[in-house]
Amino acid sequence: MSIKLQKITKIFGKTLAVNDVSLEIENGEFLTLLGPSGCGKTTILRIIAGLENVTSGVVQLEGVDITNLNPTKRDISIMFQDYALFPHMSIIENVSYGLRMRGIGKTEREKQAAKWLETMQLSNTQNRFPSELSGGQRQRVALARALITNPKILLLDEPLSALDANLRIRLREELRKIHRLIGTTFICVTHDQEEAMALSDRIAILKDGQIEQIGTPNELYDKPTSEFVANFFGKCALWPINKSKKETEKLLLEHTNLHFKTTIMPDSKTARAVIRPEFLEIAEQQITSKNQLKAKVLDILTKGTSNLITVEFENGLLLDIDVPRKYVLPDLSEHVYINLTQNELHIIND
Ligand code: ATP
Repeated sequence: MSIKLQKITKIFGKTLAVNDVSLEIENGEFLTLLGPSGCGKTTILRIIAGLENVTSGVVQLEGVDITNLNPTKRDISIMFQDYALFPHMSIIENVSYGLRMRGIGKTEREKQAAKWLETMQLSNTQNRFPSELSGGQRQRVALARALITNPKILLLDEPLSALDANLRIRLREELRKIHRLIGTTFICVTHDQEEAMALSDRIAILKDGQIEQIGTPNELYDKPTSEFVANFFGKCALWPINKSKKETEKLLLEHTNLHFKTTIMPDSKTARAVIRPEFLEIAEQQITSKNQLKAKVLDILTKGTSNLITVEFENGLLLDIDVPRKYVLPDLSEHVYINLTQNELHIIND
């Protein structure tokens, strides 16, 4: 089901937690609210669930105003960060709990719970207790419990944060698969950008209670509209730009002779080009005919498959560049020449 937030504001005492947020989430979409601690993501999730009142604004589910509807009447499930499984209930009792609350008989609810446990590849755990499962299994039980009532929307609050790093990566893929399989609208909250990228159809980046930018993971990575978003996804150097004096349509990286093309022309004096590490290549040698960027090597980190070299450009910008192992490593403090392999760059108007 689709959900629409219209001009939502939430104030706690003197804290403006959510500031005039409007957002439309499509039926079947996986949307993630991403942002640093305190930016208002959990509050938005709780408003959608009906666990928090709004100070102003409207929440619509499939065009119907549910702003003041009781949470139990919303057909929206929430899966909490700690999964909140009942420790004294068996796994099958945990999963079928939502149906028991709706007065569905034991045989029917256990049949449905068994089906969900099968979907989650947990059939053999039916009679165990939560303490007898691994973190990843508990997470899937929590998902099954949240989905058994066929919610129109599933809300996920930091769904993977309780797991160790390896399991997190594996369960990301499982979560994505489950979403594709059942087609329910998922709205997730996280502060982990990699997780958001791997899971989501679209991501809304929040800052100080407002949406800074919303788009697909690739749109946000390739075409950030602000420094905050550019830095939030991966590393980048934001290089000030000038217009060429001779050819006014040509853009130059400031204090260099490097020209580049862009899809949008700068409309502010302080526009900057987004340079990602993968656009750069450390040159074997200086080629005078070629426009190269000169930089000083500050640090070298061996990563196994490649080496990460931190360089400082002449204008003081720093960037980590991944270089293949076959490349002969420079010395610390040595100057290197760097080729820009991309002739079209995205720019940010400050
Ligand atoms: P985190 O990633 O740390 O969970 P968040 O982005 O989810 O952060 P929220 O929990 O939505 O942030 O909080 C947004 C702001 O509202 C914060 O400044 C927080 O301190 C404040 N806040 C949240 N809930 C309450 C409350 N019940 N009473 C008072 N202030 C609150």
